[in-house]
Amino acid sequence: MFSFFRPWQIGKLFGIPVRIDPSWILIFLLLVYQLATLVLPVELGRRFQRGVALDLIVVAVLASLLLFASVLAHEFAHALMARVRGVSVLGITLFIFGGVAQIGDEPDGPATEFLIAIVGPLISFVIAIMAAVVWIWLQAFQGMGLVNNIAVFQLARYIAVVAFYLAQANLLLAVFNLLPGFPLDGGRVLRSIVWAILQDQRRATYIGMLSGRGVAALLTLGGLYLVLRGEYSGGWLILMAWFLWRAAGEAYHSMLARDLLKQITVGQIMRAPLQRVSESLSLRDLAESFASWLRPPALAIDINGSAVGLIGIDQVTMIERTKWETMRVRQAMLPLPVALTVSPNDAALRALSLLTESERQDVPVVQEGQVVGVIGRRELAQYLQSRGE
Ligand SMILES: [Zn+2]
Repeated sequence: MFSFFRPWQIGKLFGIPVRIDPSWILIFLLLVYQLATLVLPVELGRRFQRGVALDLIVVAVLASLLLFASVLAHEFAHALMARVRGVSVLGITLFIFGGVAQIGDEPDGPATEFLIAIVGPLISFVIAIMAAVVWIWLQAFQGMGLVNNIAVFQLARYIAVVAFYLAQANLLLAVFNLLPGFPLDGGRVLRSIVWAILQDQRRATYIGMLSGRGVAALLTLGGLYLVLRGEYSGGWLILMAWFLWRAAGEAYHSMLARDLLKQITVGQIMRAPLQRVSESLSLRDLAESFASWLRPPALAIDINGSAVGLIGIDQVTMIERTKWETMRVRQAMLPLPVALTVSPNDAALRALSLLTESERQDVPVVQEGQVVGVIGRRELAQYLQSRGE
């Protein structure tokens, strides 16, 4: 379903989709505003000028774009290391607090987890050092008084200011991400170490969750202190703490859920047997049948009794309602054989991975070339709910 708040995909790099959450636009504009009106005038010694100069806006936009590139580099470090270690990567999303590299599966061991977590802050440190070197070099260059050309001198000042800003921001990015609160990078490093010592991923994740909540509590206190002193940047800290608190809980529960789904097979929770309908049925008649079946959506279709496709509520609702009268099942169905399938003996976790990677609502369950059922997010959610997760 379309949602306004769904991240927009802006492109692909190394085959990894890059998406931007709408909340990121807000932070980008705030950043440009803050740079153009507060940071740059001070750094360039133009504090007492009235209004905002065009050159400052241009420099602010460039600096913000470079910061955006730095955050992307940090996330790509995570994603590419995950790929090197054989962990699938779903994509990278930038949002209000930075970025997140979505990893398809839990890391297979503490060493993998450690490497994936550490490279992000490492890259941020490297960028900070490179920017600092540029800044120092330009300071020395200007200090020697070798520049006679005013334009070149001015350009060097702009670059120096941006380099200084990037050095600071990337250092902050590295340090903040290294806070030992799961699921921040530092918290993941902590979890990997506890995991290696205890040889128990579940307990390591539990301790990780506690560390995440501990750091969140400390950030809240720090934020409150700042707000009470009249510094409203403390509000950001509190918002971030709230986000971290929630993320720590979600990460732990998602691991528990994965654990539960490893212990059950697809066959035990799939929707089966499927209803059979003729491929020449109209979508309108099909929709009416859906309404009267107890476990409606997906079903196999017959000509001469053999299954040729699958059709569920998803496929029907993709078609405009006005066309339901004339459109036939065969025009809307998912033709068989389908590329993505699971077997009844697969762990239910495999179904979850496929659903997440393909962003589909359900996948067919195939045994000896025959579709014997369907499994979707609903079945997985119902099972987890029944187990109290
Ligand atoms: Zn990171």
